[in-house]
Amino acid sequence: MDSPVVRRRRLGNPLSWRMSDRCYAIALLLCATTFLIGAAQVLGGWPFLPPESEAADLVGFNVAAFVAWTTLAVIARVARGRDGDGLLLAIATVVLYAITLAAFTLLTGPFGAPGWIGFLGGAVIGYVVFPRWVSLGGTFVYAVLVIAGAIAIADGAFDGTLLGPAARAVRVEQEAIVRGAVSTTLMSGLTFVIIMWIIERWRDREARFERLASTDPLTGVANRRLLFDVSRRELARGRRYGTPTSLIIIDLDHFKSINDRFGHLIGDRALSHAAGVLGEAIRDADMIARYGGEEFGILLPMTDLDGAYEVAERCRTRLADRPFQFDGESVTITASLGVATTIREGDVDDLLRRADDALLRAKALGRNRTEKA
Ligand code: GH3
Ligand code: MG
Ligand code: MG
Repeated sequence: MDSPVVRRRRLGNPLSWRMSDRCYAIALLLCATTFLIGAAQVLGGWPFLPPESEAADLVGFNVAAFVAWTTLAVIARVARGRDGDGLLLAIATVVLYAITLAAFTLLTGPFGAPGWIGFLGGAVIGYVVFPRWVSLGGTFVYAVLVIAGAIAIADGAFDGTLLGPAARAVRVEQEAIVRGAVSTTLMSGLTFVIIMWIIERWRDREARFERLASTDPLTGVANRRLLFDVSRRELARGRRYGTPTSLIIIDLDHFKSINDRFGHLIGDRALSHAAGVLGEAIRDADMIARYGGEEFGILLPMTDLDGAYEVAERCRTRLADRPFQFDGESVTITASLGVATTIREGDVDDLLRRADDALLRAKALGRNRTEKA
């Protein structure tokens, strides 16, 4: 039997699933729910209404909802991996949920707990897994449908039989039906805004932690953890598509002497300066990270050894051409660089080892130069 850890790995974190998989999971959930409610009704009556209510025709609602969600599940499954960002699928899922829940709300009565649970659950899940404006749009569709449905029912549509047990039991007047639906919807809207606000704060915090965990605080570039994560991914991608991935390791020359001459604070500023110059010398698709104390790594996806060497030389000359200036002083910082590119089987460690060897050679050959693995 799988351990829980392994099982969690296999499913992954739902928050990093692709959009079609999120829609697929929600569609499956709704298939199961509508199926269970339908089955319960066939066996012993619609679970949300008193047994004596003549609700046999509610099977129609369940069948329609089940068919609609099954269709969506199939579409989401087929679209897997070729739906771009999956926005259309997200909109379809949210709108179908709004329609299903609005119908359910009108059937069980807008004052009923089941509708509320469906609303709150939908709001939280929708807001976490879909873009904000998509779930807001879904809430709007839901509100319009419930209010419009209540007005129509109050006007005698569906023979006034659809508005749940509470409305029917007390034979409320038209005005009360509409009032109930409108105030329920307004309350739902308010709840949704509060939920959204809290989740928004939580997401901000998540994003901040994520940034903190992957950024070097001194220079502002990525840290080695992120470099390793991205390198692993790019190497896998490169292997799959048969493209080379290159790595440059940069070590600043005699940096200890800068610390010794000007102190560590100025040394820190010199490091940030170097990171800034290097960052400007690379392309958007490349990634720079602080690899160690005064060492940087640059990952170059889809770049062969000669291309990476060219970038490395650009980094080296730019650094040498732009002295670090402070308090009227001007200090030229140079660096030694090692470049390596992927070979057929190697992993990140292997790429790193070869770039490091080249770097050592650059140091041994006199510094301020680039060597290829
Ligand atoms: P070379 O690489 O050319 O052989 O000489 P080096 O002096 O740069 O190499 P070494 O590895 O001996 O020393 C690295 C220096 O970098 C020593 C350390 O104080 C400095 N350094 C490392 N990290 C930081 C940092 O975060 N801030 C400051 N100010 N200095 C740092
Ligand atoms: Mg060093
Ligand atoms: Mg050094």
